[in-house]
Amino acid sequence: MEASVPFKSLLPLWRGDPHSPFVLFWNHELPGSALDFGLQEGRKVCPECLAERGRHLAVWDLSFISACPVHRKALVDKCHACENPIKWKGNGLAWCGCRKGGDLTKAPAAPVTPEQANATACVQGLLGDPQFTEEGTGVLALPPFRNMAHAQVIEFLVRLGLDAAATRPRRYFFGFENMGDVEVPPHEALARSLAAVRNWPAGFHAELDNMRRLHLTDVTTATQKVTKGIVRWATPLPNGGGWAIKQAVKDYRRAARELDARSP
Ligand SMILES: [Zn+2]
Ligand SMILES: [Zn+2]
Repeated sequence: MEASVPFKSLLPLWRGDPHSPFVLFWNHELPGSALDFGLQEGRKVCPECLAERGRHLAVWDLSFISACPVHRKALVDKCHACENPIKWKGNGLAWCGCRKGGDLTKAPAAPVTPEQANATACVQGLLGDPQFTEEGTGVLALPPFRNMAHAQVIEFLVRLGLDAAATRPRRYFFGFENMGDVEVPPHEALARSLAAVRNWPAGFHAELDNMRRLHLTDVTTATQKVTKGIVRWATPLPNGGGWAIKQAVKDYRRAARELDARSP
């Protein structure tokens, strides 16, 4: 690094650290990469919501919201008329702005599964969306999330889900950011992590097993790889919020040691 560049001035550009910088969204402190989508000037929308409500919803700007829990459809980020990414331009929020018409309220949207729609509803509820208060409250009551702030519950679900749904080890394990190593849409990742957390700790351990199998090393090394980012994230959480997660990781590591001792 250039010695003349103050380290702090680089932080806003540096996406490697999941804790810095933060963005505030509806008063929740989220990792800065939560708004990556908006920074790229792209836009994603639910065509049916646009038609019914006539406005752009703030949650669509979040990197981890990729489905509409009301209409159970994936958000659309390309104009069906010109096939270009939807940008912040055009005559009104419901139009792409291209010469081909581009009525975004008519854009075809792919259906998502009930689990994927529900997982997105849970996250929107945690953010404070009054339509999904019940879903959000239900998630907060799950064992690993006692004493955890809403934003941290969301972080855990996103981080775990992206790794659980990946088909190869991600470059930034347990990372929040969308740095090109994400293969699945967030609604799929969220459904995956929520299912794991609802079956705590067995479901969590099963996902760790799946991730560990992607590493072509011995059990001990692979176990370290898939758990150390989680512990590093959970350790500094205030009010002991990460305790249950760390406990579950500890149990998992102990089982791995026994497994390793038995293998030839
Ligand atoms: Zn919708
Ligand atoms: Zn267009």
